[in-house]
Amino acid sequence: MTQVLSEEYLDYSDILIKPKMGINLNSRREVNLQRVFKFKHGQTRTGLGVFNANMATVGNFAIAKKLLSRGMFATIHKHYTVEEIGVFLNQCKADNISTDNLFITIGLKNAPEQVQKLKDLESKHQWTGARNICIDAPNFYIPKALEVLADVRHEFPDAVIMVGNIASGDVCLKLLDNADIIKCGIGSGSACLTRKQTGCGTPMVSLILECADIAHSVNGHICADGGIVDIGDICKAFCLNADFVMAGGMFAGSDEAEGEIIEKQYQTNELIGEECVIQTKRFKQYYGMSSEYANNKFAGGMCNYKTSEGRELLIPYTGSLDKILQDISGGIASCCTYIGAASVKNMSKCATLIKVHNQLNKVFEKYSV
Ligand code: 5GP
Repeated sequence: MTQVLSEEYLDYSDILIKPKMGINLNSRREVNLQRVFKFKHGQTRTGLGVFNANMATVGNFAIAKKLLSRGMFATIHKHYTVEEIGVFLNQCKADNISTDNLFITIGLKNAPEQVQKLKDLESKHQWTGARNICIDAPNFYIPKALEVLADVRHEFPDAVIMVGNIASGDVCLKLLDNADIIKCGIGSGSACLTRKQTGCGTPMVSLILECADIAHSVNGHICADGGIVDIGDICKAFCLNADFVMAGGMFAGSDEAEGEIIEKQYQTNELIGEECVIQTKRFKQYYGMSSEYANNKFAGGMCNYKTSEGRELLIPYTGSLDKILQDISGGIASCCTYIGAASVKNMSKCATLIKVHNQLNKVFEKYSV
């Protein structure tokens, strides 16, 4: 019988982390933000488990470089050529930036060519040592996804492989036969239209709990992808047992994101003499990888059997990425001091999460300019 499950599924805005007495630290500086990840297929990486999304707007070299230099993880999107990636790897080497935490993205379309791209990277551009691959598809449930994953694992037995996206626990064990990290989240992204166009999706909090539980039982890892509105949401994801968090929109207004700054002028209610004051606001363009815009740009237009599951947005310009990255590290460290966690690894052990009706006080929001 068809039924609606009565269990409540929660999202980031439905919960808070309750501060508590424990082995609390005196200073945020004492918190260990680096975590050692021992992956299912034998590899070890160290860093703060925050990724940029592997999207054309934010999965670019400039953002990847900044995250890597801050001890975080990074992806680069699938539209870069082997030569472009080779140049980037050399630049990082020259600047003493380790690429051990850099994930190269491939898609499912034209899979043999995508695998060849990785092989070329290896043979022509010394992509050796720590190799990390992200196999990305909006819907990783399709049978072809498992086939491509098996091929990539066969070709790169010692790589760290991240796959996704999925939004249920049932598929995790199967994927972890060959993958190390599962990217969880369907429909929660800020440039996403999947929930509107298909009605499909799973709220992030419940999804993280479900997938982490299953993945961790076999030494797999999960990455909570999409829906990060505030830095507090990254903290919540770690407290819920996500090993990694991936964000797109959070980085998309920065100088380092793709695209020019777009200026728009707005007439305000303020008058100087008889004249209305005009205010200039700055934006950057952000678009979903399944948006019509992305399809036109990268796939020669929308196919007639598809609907666009992504949208194009102008989002406020946020300046240098350095400030955002500093805030992320600072926010996570501070969260740790509220819950008595000496390290990011311990956050889930120390956290008590509570369901709330009001997460934020928005009383002055109507006055913000
Ligand atoms: P954000 O951090 O902006 O909330 O979400 C970023 C995530 O949204 C990406 O990592 C990816 O999983 C997802 N995403 C990116 N483009 C699209 C799209 O066009 N459609 C959908 N459904 N999801 C997208």
